Amino acid sequence: MTDVNRQWIMTSRPKDMVSRENFSWQESPIPEPGEGEFLVRNLYLSFDPTMRVWMNAQDSYLPAIQIGEVMRCFSVAQVVKSNHPDFAVGELVNGGFGWQDYAISNGGGPIPPSKLHPGIDPQLTMSVLGMTGLTGYFGMLDVGEVKSGDAVLVSGAAGATGSVAAQIARIKGARVVGITGGEEKCRWLTEVAGLDGVIDYKSEKLSKALRQHFPKGIDLYFDNVGGPTLDAALAGLALGGRVVLCGAISGYNSATGADGLKNYANLIVQRGRMQGFIILDYAKRYGEALRELAGWVQSGDLKYQIDLQEGLENAPETFQRIFTGANQGKQLLKVGDVS
Ligand code: NAP
Repeated sequence: MTDVNRQWIMTSRPKDMVSRENFSWQESPIPEPGEGEFLVRNLYLSFDPTMRVWMNAQDSYLPAIQIGEVMRCFSVAQVVKSNHPDFAVGELVNGGFGWQDYAISNGGGPIPPSKLHPGIDPQLTMSVLGMTGLTGYFGMLDVGEVKSGDAVLVSGAAGATGSVAAQIARIKGARVVGITGGEEKCRWLTEVAGLDGVIDYKSEKLSKALRQHFPKGIDLYFDNVGGPTLDAALAGLALGGRVVLCGAISGYNSATGADGLKNYANLIVQRGRMQGFIILDYAKRYGEALRELAGWVQSGDLKYQIDLQEGLENAPETFQRIFTGANQGKQLLKVGDVS
């Protein structure tokens, strides 16, 4: 345990790729919880592309982070002091405790804390049995309505969300092709995750590869990337094709957002549909999804990867990894040990 609270403060809004220059390191006294509050010590920080969107001046589905605030993130933490009736010292909690060692919570806020189920590995609750696993689950099943025999395309397929979405489609009997960057990720998708095909967008021409993999068109495209990748998939839709808009990471670090679409009119020709979603809207159904996801993990049907970096001082560079594609699976940063 440190005797100060080490914090990363957001000092400027990035114009393009987020970097260390957008933050400053600060050391403050460890805060004391007031009446109805508790103090947590962060253990693992989660790195999610959406955090880059929170850094912009405009509010999104959550309020924008303000200059001078601790950088916001999801994390798992341990309660170390408590004046709150529902949170006891020693308990592990999920919440939005930010890039710092210690945080105070009153049990509310934009990302309200929730207790971890005892006995479950905290890293799993931040990946395949956490927000990204749930996003893959509801995106593929509820929004995409995948069915047996569908020809399915998933971008960002080796990532935390995409790998779950792609494997659920495979489990449901679809033929699944993943898009990712680099040989190692491609190999993992075919040899470990059991996908039927893979496209390395860093070395292949996407539109040509899509024609080869989908001679009869794409029934369902799960989009994590946006921009030219989405545009190429729209051009290749089958009759009645569906597009699930999960994320648009290709535009998150661009001042002008993701590139515009030329091929959206193919939705008209193919009588298709395109729908976005935010996982937080499914909160009431997390329980049912987690039971099914846990069953697939236990049976070995659903594989996952966790990329664990270490040290709060490395938070800005760890954040960049998800935008350069350096991460091999769910990006986490270990900043403390359970006591
Ligand atoms: P992740 O996929 O584990 O990591 C991000 C990956 O995106 C990187 O590894 C990289 O993979 C790829 N990438 C980065 N920049 C790219 C670019 N310019 N073009 C193409 N690919 C790029 O991260 P995640 O947390 O699972 O998030 C994946 C997507 O899901 C994001 O778009 C995120 O916003 C979205 N999401 C949405 C919701 C929701 O509620 N709608 C919830 C969670 C996540 P490669 O090596 O393959 O390039």
